[in-house]
Amino acid sequence: MPPRLEVVEGDITRLDIDAIVNAANESLLGGGGVDGAIHRAAGPELLAECRLIGGCPTGEARITRGYRLKARHVIHTVGPVWRGGTRDEPELLANCYRSSLALAQAHGLQGIAFPAISTGIYGYPKAQATEIAVREVRRHAELDHVIFCCFGEDMAELYREALAS
Ligand code: ADP
Repeated sequence: MPPRLEVVEGDITRLDIDAIVNAANESLLGGGGVDGAIHRAAGPELLAECRLIGGCPTGEARITRGYRLKARHVIHTVGPVWRGGTRDEPELLANCYRSSLALAQAHGLQGIAFPAISTGIYGYPKAQATEIAVREVRRHAELDHVIFCCFGEDMAELYREALAS
């Protein structure tokens, strides 16, 4: 059975699901945007576990516990910074989705929620990023339920368009 795909508008830190994905940076030591929100909501134990991991290259993913979040796990992945599209950004962004899904599946998780990786501070064009997100989830997700969690109606509409195509 293909996974149930859902677009949810709102704060990813509130979701009660097996795993939420963090759009982290290579240090895994926290930052702005969704990364900061996840660390604030999860508490200092999350940062302590991330310190032990010692970083993550762009396109890869690492899993931790969720601590004070309702989500049981956080999958930290590092999206590419948009530099005009000629520095392998599409492939690196696709790798974020693939490696996050592979980790979730290796841990037997059934539900995962993704933010729109790289579309904030990292500047990836939103429509292109949502197309990659939907394509990779369709190709690689073998779990029950995938949520595209986004801030704002504009972003939600882009996901709906990508899902309809
Ligand atoms: P990046 O550095 O990968 O661009 P950002 O955190 O700046 O990461 O933004 C990624 C996306 O996450 C953006 O679309 C932003 O609007 C969204 N975002 C920021 N905070 C949250 C949150 N709490 N829940 C869901 N999405 C969020």
